[in-house]
Amino acid sequence: MKIHLASHYGMCFGVREALRATHDAAASSPDVTLLGQLVHNPVVDDHLSQLGIRRASPDAVLDLRQTHAVITAHGTSDARRTALQKAALKVTDTTCPLVRKAHDALALLVAEGYHPVVIGQRDHVEVRGLVGDFPSASVLLDAAEIDQLPAHQRLGIIAQTTQPLERVLTLVAAIKTARPDDEVRFIDTVCHPTKQRQQALEDLLQICDVLVVVGGHNSNNTRQLAARAAAAGASVYQIERPTDLSPRWFRHAKNVGVTAGTSTLDETVRSVMDRLHEIAAEQSITPLQRLLLPLTQHA
Ligand code: SF4
Repeated sequence: MKIHLASHYGMCFGVREALRATHDAAASSPDVTLLGQLVHNPVVDDHLSQLGIRRASPDAVLDLRQTHAVITAHGTSDARRTALQKAALKVTDTTCPLVRKAHDALALLVAEGYHPVVIGQRDHVEVRGLVGDFPSASVLLDAAEIDQLPAHQRLGIIAQTTQPLERVLTLVAAIKTARPDDEVRFIDTVCHPTKQRQQALEDLLQICDVLVVVGGHNSNNTRQLAARAAAAGASVYQIERPTDLSPRWFRHAKNVGVTAGTSTLDETVRSVMDRLHEIAAEQSITPLQRLLLPLTQHA
């Protein structure tokens, strides 16, 4: 079995920078509260709690007077950011610049008179932040929801940064078809690292029969990578750690592809690759060699 690592995979610059800034906060303040999950990755969560960083819900009403609050890479609404800056001892804002760009695009559309529309998951923290300053905004993820868009002659659309571009473009086209008399303007806010990882996955799917996707089970872009690979017909296993790998998954595999979501640490991917190479080596041993192995070891 051959193992192929995607040309683009794993942690993006936005997550890296958020982690660095959170480390700095923990080094400079004895009391740090992370407002949400910094990234959707349990390995990172464990690491941060070992540093003594507490975690609270991003929308929680808290007494923050004694704490250094950290806004996660997924961002928040301007209203919430302002409230936090008044309430907390100190605030570190790790909002990714590409999430910030999506906020700016939505604000621009609203300023130009468009009804704001976000293609994304309604309950995702990034989307809640995006629409937080525009309570009338519409959020949709499926063509069946187009009917629920309000009657408005100008619709201004952006996307959650980690949505698959193909799905977004299909939905924008469907909205244009459903609203031929209205002006529909789309600003592409799917982030570049997400696009690179999606394209690298397409390249892997050309040659691989089994795909391993490394990342948190609640990471949106990790789940999107796994869903795309499954839709293309590959056998797909989404894992968080190398210990999740089972050798029987690869019994008949010829080419195994490995990719990872943007919140996955490099060291996690490296240890998954190491474990896969071990499995490949174990599988290259013939049944006769396996029987003889204890004898040769004791010869
Ligand atoms: S996935 Fe994209 S938007 Fe999100 S943190 Fe990474 S670079 Fe920024």
